[in-house]
Amino acid sequence: MRMRGAKRLLFALILFDGLLFGTLGAVVQTGRFADGALQAGSVMKPAEPEPEEGQEQGIKSVQKLLALTFDDGPSAECTKVLLDGLKQRGIHATFFLMGENIPGKEALVVRMKEEGHLIANHGYRHVQMTHEGEEAVAESVEKAQEMIEAITGEEPEFLRPPYGDWNEKLAERCDLTTVFWNVDSLDWKLRNVEKIVRRVKKQVRNGDIILMHDIFPESVEAALELADQLGAEGYMFVTVDELLID
Ligand SMILES: [Zn+2]
Repeated sequence: MRMRGAKRLLFALILFDGLLFGTLGAVVQTGRFADGALQAGSVMKPAEPEPEEGQEQGIKSVQKLLALTFDDGPSAECTKVLLDGLKQRGIHATFFLMGENIPGKEALVVRMKEEGHLIANHGYRHVQMTHEGEEAVAESVEKAQEMIEAITGEEPEFLRPPYGDWNEKLAERCDLTTVFWNVDSLDWKLRNVEKIVRRVKKQVRNGDIILMHDIFPESVEAALELADQLGAEGYMFVTVDELLID
């Protein structure tokens, strides 16, 4: 029996914070709705680690972790270009797949798994889940789970509700761990590579989860540019589960 999503995530956050940064005092709840409002109980923003005496610079730089996350795909063209770019760079990302976008793009989902990315659930349709009723949401999430499992042989463990729109009742009904974000790239709105890169670089800190969408060419180009620029600054890119648990 798995722990319920919210409790499980909280556990993961405490574990993550305790292991990586040696303090429980730095947990700040910073999950955000798409409109920028803060939501409690989602993800954390860890404090910058204090360098320890005698610690080598190399180890310190390895501790700078980020998760690139992509919602709403797969998209036949954009996701393919993104997967090619991530593979070239040896970077793993997290994909929150939209159930209704999967048919016809199964090969891309297979690639995601084979190439080491984390596949997660974004529901079957792009709706505000708190407006849908618990049963309808449970069905939508389950439908996407089954579609993904039929392709990869594995059910996702993580869910990102569209718009970050979620509540306690849905959390009780749904056994997946919800993942929100710290940095909203606003890529869907900006649709401009330079502006997206600038916006993310201005906000980003160690331990952040970056929200992007692999359905726009500008988002894909910006994501790969961010991977290069932030990689050069010593950031390592990991999947959401590695960021939360490891
Ligand atoms: Zn979405």
